[in-house]
Amino acid sequence: MVRDQLEARGVRDRATLAAMSLVPREAFVPEGRAGVAYADGPLSIGHGQTISQPYMVARMTECLALSELGWPWTEAPPALLDVGTGSGYQAAVLAQCGARVTSIERDPELAERARERLAAQGYAVKVVVGDGSLGYPPDAPYAGIVVAAGAPRVPEPLVEQLADGGRQVVPDGGGRSQRLNIIRRVGSERETRTADACVFVPLVGQHGHHE
Ligand code: SAM
Repeated sequence: MVRDQLEARGVRDRATLAAMSLVPREAFVPEGRAGVAYADGPLSIGHGQTISQPYMVARMTECLALSELGWPWTEAPPALLDVGTGSGYQAAVLAQCGARVTSIERDPELAERARERLAAQGYAVKVVVGDGSLGYPPDAPYAGIVVAAGAPRVPEPLVEQLADGGRQVVPDGGGRSQRLNIIRRVGSERETRTADACVFVPLVGQHGHHE
């Protein structure tokens, strides 16, 4: 997976590649699907949701530029927020990078299953149930925020919860024409650039799509 799907498509970030070679993806797919855990695409996890394609998890992690934030950490690791826990795989990758990870999921059953999977693999991720389009103020500010669901526009509370110098990766745009936005906060300013085209399930919430 790392060689054929990630490095072959240009993923170069060492933190991302190291973490993705260590997290057992088969532990985050539904029972009976371990045989296709490393397939080059998203997989259904029930409740109409998916575990994201490995390449998309890698790109989003790479876009956080953890090396610029000091990875491998010699000081206290930074706080990261994962919006849309789903299976818990993205959260596990961020935790494997050594960060302090909070992950927020709106579906209580998916959140509970992810909590169990993460704990079983020894990842100390805080999984909370709630509307991630509002972020999660108790653990803010975050050095990085990854949003694994598409919003009509970038949710403002998420930008406000970014630490100075932090980056947020969030898909926006309508229907099947989403793009990944990488937003960096610099003081009170923000720098935005767009990266890959992508297709995500909708971010449903106050600053996302209506139910
Ligand atoms: N990152 C996940 C993984 O590695 O398995 C995949 C996430 S899946 C593509 C998107 C998730 O976002 C779904 O589980 C969905 O329930 C969740 N979601 C949608 N809107 C949300 C919101 N406002 N707050 C939190 N989670 C939300």
